[in-house]
Amino acid sequence: MLRLFRKKGYNTVSFSSFEPKQPYQLILRHDIDFLGINLSILTDMEMKIGFQSINHFLMTSEVYNINSLAVKSLINRLRKKGHHLGLHIDPTLFSPYSSKQELQNEFKNLINIANIYLGPLDSYSFHRPAIIGPNKDLFPENFSFQVPKCAYSDEFTKSMIYRSDSRREWQDGCICQEIKDLDGRSLQLLIHANWWDIEEINREQNLKTYVNTHLRLIKSYLAYNLSFLPESKISLKDFFIG
Ligand SMILES: [Zn+2]
Repeated sequence: MLRLFRKKGYNTVSFSSFEPKQPYQLILRHDIDFLGINLSILTDMEMKIGFQSINHFLMTSEVYNINSLAVKSLINRLRKKGHHLGLHIDPTLFSPYSSKQELQNEFKNLINIANIYLGPLDSYSFHRPAIIGPNKDLFPENFSFQVPKCAYSDEFTKSMIYRSDSRREWQDGCICQEIKDLDGRSLQLLIHANWWDIEEINREQNLKTYVNTHLRLIKSYLAYNLSFLPESKISLKDFFIG
């Protein structure tokens, strides 16, 4: 599918380098809700066809640690290959704040922490915006300080085509079909790497593989730290980078 975009003459741009009204711009975004080897495979593939994506990491994930050695190596690798980095935000984090000032302070802290782990941020996006409804207070125009571009701002959603594979479902039909009639119009495309595999497997099988690999990883971690357990061969790096 990405090769088709290439064939049609599209080039990837980041949110911060996007130029309004210019055709053939593709903003290729990956939100990292959970992390496996698929992101490495996908971003390597993108690089081979000359594409760079924008990878949004959660600072508050329950299933991966932004400060672990393996995730840090992955982040370095993405940066070295010319991909862009950004922040994926769970808006529910901000619902308990009583005042706007408190929310602003907390957001500023989150951006500062993200800068430490990810470096300069291209942009940010919201986790599960359709269900939670993005908090209007979290859009750039409502901050009293400079923030990165927001993937859900009108310029990247209402003023341009925006397509997402959320839960591995293309809401407007598969983009592979739609691409034929785009006529060079610029678009934002959200792909969750964790939903796809090089093999043709369905989403339930895909999740099963993720859970099983995670289980092996935990067993390996325990075996490494507890000498009475049998050795396991998988390492954190194998899991995220391959
Ligand atoms: Zn998400």
